Amino acid sequence: MGLLTRDGHLLDLTLERYLAEDLAREARGDLELHLGACVACQERLEYLRSATMPLPDLSKLE
Ligand SMILES: [Zn+2]
Repeated sequence: MGLLTRDGHLLDLTLERYLAEDLAREARGDLELHLGACVACQERLEYLRSATMPLPDLSKLE
């Protein structure tokens, strides 16, 4: 489904969409299955999470 690189790891784009909660439930399940077994992708996810600007908290706006 295009979630993985050629060597079987998660694409940055896939991880970014995961962080943005923009993945279908089935795709998210596949991603989490891989993440649970792959330290390299866990580290990549943490890197992308830290590099991603947090979204503004709209609930605080009047
Ligand atoms: Zn991986």
